[in-house]
Amino acid sequence: MGDPMAKIYRDQDADLGFLKDKKICIVGYGSQGHAHALNLRDSGLDVVVALPEWDKETWKKAEGDGMRVVRLEEIGGDLIAMLIPDMVQPEVYRKFVRDKLKPNSAILFAHGFNIHYNQIVPPQNVDVVMVAPKGPGPLVRRMFLEGKGVPALVAVHRNASGKALEIALAYAKGIGATRAGVIETTFKEETETDLFGEQVDLCGGVAEMIKMSFEVLVEAGYQPEVAYFEVLHELKLIVDLIYEGGIFNMWRAVSETAKYGGMTRGKRIFNGNTREEMRRILREIQTGEFAREWILENMAGRPVYNKLLEMEANHPIEKVGKEMRKMIPWLK
Ligand code: NAD
Ligand code: MG
Repeated sequence: MGDPMAKIYRDQDADLGFLKDKKICIVGYGSQGHAHALNLRDSGLDVVVALPEWDKETWKKAEGDGMRVVRLEEIGGDLIAMLIPDMVQPEVYRKFVRDKLKPNSAILFAHGFNIHYNQIVPPQNVDVVMVAPKGPGPLVRRMFLEGKGVPALVAVHRNASGKALEIALAYAKGIGATRAGVIETTFKEETETDLFGEQVDLCGGVAEMIKMSFEVLVEAGYQPEVAYFEVLHELKLIVDLIYEGGIFNMWRAVSETAKYGGMTRGKRIFNGNTREEMRRILREIQTGEFAREWILENMAGRPVYNKLLEMEANHPIEKVGKEMRKMIPWLK
């Protein structure tokens, strides 16, 4: 089942020297941008942040953190990191980045979508690399300050300079990721697994599992309050056990009845049909069908996205959840 021995890079495998004397331009100062910019600066590198003029609040925040901030028109340097939302990257690239890419300079991404689906096509003489932390920006910053790091994925889409991997690893070291370990991947693997995970498991799968089990209990006449605690609230305990020690750690911790019921019934929920549907969803990702749908949805002003979001916000579990969470002192 796949190659079990992924290449993992640690601190000693990466050399910050590949970014010394280079000008790094971080485009965006949001979740990832602020963490990367601050960590790279604190690693002794030459960093400037590029922001749109209309985002006054972020501009103030970056300057308050002591960063040098420039307008998008002034994007430039030896390494340009695209750390703005994926759906706005192509336009920003066309308007402000494409003509600034010098031969043998590098463009860096934290997610492979736009390169993998050809929404951004950098010139042949530029390194195209990815450093994708496996965690949100604030954690990337916090771990760095604690002398630790968040694991990351690294990939090279194009090695024009002959040193693209070394440069990406230097960047990964600069943000602290090699302290934890950096796994080598490809733009294809990172993009497709990321989309698959958020669709079937992390976001889509979990949300539907919670809502459907809530609906089944409520329509059978059970109180929504009791259903909420059972199918949503308690999920955190289970996920924490799995996160800390794996699935078997969870089985160890739950009751004998939960073990037997779970092991026999879980397979009826996630059955052969579910597996087939997961494979169909994966194929839509691999063929670019999902990417086309989402790109066109954005061009159309997100009519489906907005409607679905509204329906999610108005689901009965949100109303009961809002009340029930008032009972939980550690959530206040
Ligand atoms: P974000 O939403 O936090 O980015 C906000 C920044 O983008 C702000 O500085 C804002 O000024 C700028 N911005 C917004 N609209 C803009 C526009 N039209 N033109 C120019 N700038 C604009 O972004 P993020 O969540 O940090 O994601 C950045 C990249 O990192 C993405 O490729 C994402 O997939 C990837 N990534 C994110 C996470 C995460 O935890 N958020 C994790 C791994 C990878
Ligand atoms: Mg993801």
